[in-house]
Amino acid sequence: MQLIWFRQDLRIQDHAALWHATQSGNCMALVILSPEQWQRHDDSPAKQIFYLRQLETLKSQLNQLNIPLLIKQIPLWDDVPHQLLQLCQQLSINAVHANIEIGVNELKRDAQTQKKLEKHQISLELYHDQTIFPVGSICNKSHQPYQVFSAFKKRCYELLSISLPQCYPAVAQQEKIQLDFDLGHALISASTSMQSPDTDQLQQLWPVTKDYALEVLDNFIDAKIEHYQQERDFPHLNSTSQLSPYLNIGAVSIRQCLQAIFRKQAGYFHIDNLGQQTWLDELLWREFYQHILYQFPAVSKHQPFKINTQKIEWRNSEQDLIAWQQGQTGIPIVDAGMHQLLQTGWMHNRVRMITAMFLTKNLLIDWRLGEKWFMQHLIDGNLAANNGGWQWCASTGTDSVPYFRIFNPVNQSQKFDKNGDYIRKWVPELAHLDAKKIHEPYAFEPAQALHYPRPIVDLSLSRKRAIEAFKAI
Ligand code: FAD
Repeated sequence: MQLIWFRQDLRIQDHAALWHATQSGNCMALVILSPEQWQRHDDSPAKQIFYLRQLETLKSQLNQLNIPLLIKQIPLWDDVPHQLLQLCQQLSINAVHANIEIGVNELKRDAQTQKKLEKHQISLELYHDQTIFPVGSICNKSHQPYQVFSAFKKRCYELLSISLPQCYPAVAQQEKIQLDFDLGHALISASTSMQSPDTDQLQQLWPVTKDYALEVLDNFIDAKIEHYQQERDFPHLNSTSQLSPYLNIGAVSIRQCLQAIFRKQAGYFHIDNLGQQTWLDELLWREFYQHILYQFPAVSKHQPFKINTQKIEWRNSEQDLIAWQQGQTGIPIVDAGMHQLLQTGWMHNRVRMITAMFLTKNLLIDWRLGEKWFMQHLIDGNLAANNGGWQWCASTGTDSVPYFRIFNPVNQSQKFDKNGDYIRKWVPELAHLDAKKIHEPYAFEPAQALHYPRPIVDLSLSRKRAIEAFKAI
């Protein structure tokens, strides 16, 4: 009997481990729920709830394939090797199949499990699945990992033009298996110790049904990708794919995204328009940060990529941090973004950059505090992308923004939310203001006319303070 161990890959289509396992014989499937481990990783309640809902969908899909799904609770990964061995012995499993995960703790868990199982002649087969190219395989001529995105991307383009990764074939239904074993379908409830958007609202915003993620992908490719390059930076437009939560838990695969981009070119790597190219580049940013995390695991251990930035003297201001977290900074675009995050578990990319740069530069607060807050609230929280995004904005990362190029949030707001529609939606106290006043209300309105915080920081002085702090190192 083969066991497929699903992790951040809750789908049945184009799934490396599932496909390989079914080629080797009859299969059972396993999902391990580790609430305490998830909490240690700062996984948000929104993400945990979303995962559990997708798990229900997976269960019914596997049911149609006659693959029984066993759901087991193992609070901490340290206990996985031992408990998995027991389970394999109980079910007479010969081989466990899973897709590679690249986080430090994930790699450690898998290495320890592999060792434990092998002692008992049970193999743990691990497959490349979650990135376009196997992590560690994209190197420069000196066999070193790329540290600059443009060079990494160029190499990826070369490889894609040789051949586009193909999706795995659909898996056939297997004969029904007789089990005298309790499948233990009890689900856990997500931690309530952190703020979370309410569950019904999450369900409406981020549905999970059988083919939902693929439908989102198809709609995006058919209706939006062509205009993606011109429209993606405007947060009031619904012009990005909003696939990140689905990609993150593997409800859709990266190969399915790639194949969809080139569907009209019969699956050949041929770029027809800027929208197509720009969206591909975003998928390659995802790829880049995953390769970085794998090659430079220190970044996931709270270390900056640029070691000298360890010396920056971040400000310790609990009050400013809380104002930022709760969207009470008095800078409308920042507050709008933070409210969107708290209410939906998601934030538009342009606003993620503005809010992250405001925290790390204007408030000069340590990027690790912002990274943690995002992880604790994002429905698409992903260690590699979140760390990469934060270190980019904080100028501590690989190929990050130069420290002196600091976004002015008011200018960004005037440029990317010209009419103030995004602010109006997420900061309703300002909804009555016109497009000129809404970006910096205190510059136009008397204080008593506004029910909104005053800016907690002077943008120009704080910009200078940040540049000085970086210059000092
Ligand atoms: P689209 O614009 O449709 O892009 C398609 C896909 O490409 C995304 O779903 C995502 O998987 C990938 N992608 C796009 N931009 C990036 C990027 N800059 N870096 C890495 N991958 C990218 N993304 C996450 O998935 N999880 C995170 O935890 C996360 N944290 C971030 C934190 C900060 C401070 C910043 C600046 C960015 C972060 N991002 C993160 C990247 C990006 O903001 C989101 O991927 C994007 O907003 C998701 O929306 P979308 O699916 O509509 O993206």
